[in-house]
Amino acid sequence: MLLIECPWCGPRAETEFSYGGEAGIERPTDPYALSDEEWADYLFFRRNPRGAHRELWNHAQGCRRWFGVERDTVSYRIEKSYRLSGAGSGRPAAAHIEASEEKRR
Ligand SMILES: [Zn+2]
Repeated sequence: MLLIECPWCGPRAETEFSYGGEAGIERPTDPYALSDEEWADYLFFRRNPRGAHRELWNHAQGCRRWFGVERDTVSYRIEKSYRLSGAGSGRPAAAHIEASEEKRR
């Protein structure tokens, strides 16, 4: 069983969490300026990398908060989990890494 570390609750079983998809997807600033194909790309298409991947997870059976995870899609090893920041940080649409996390890279 995969253990996922919630930034607020600590390590918990995978069954307590819900996967929220790829992290770091920016909403277009002017959606009306996009073509239908560009809008569909934003809405439906996501990367499916082999290796490191930034993801959103929700601790659905715990604190119910959203957070980010860096996970290797081959080994399932989780490199780190981190709190999200920004307006409405409880939702995946506001998936931004805290400034302190960015500085470490
Ligand atoms: Zn939690």
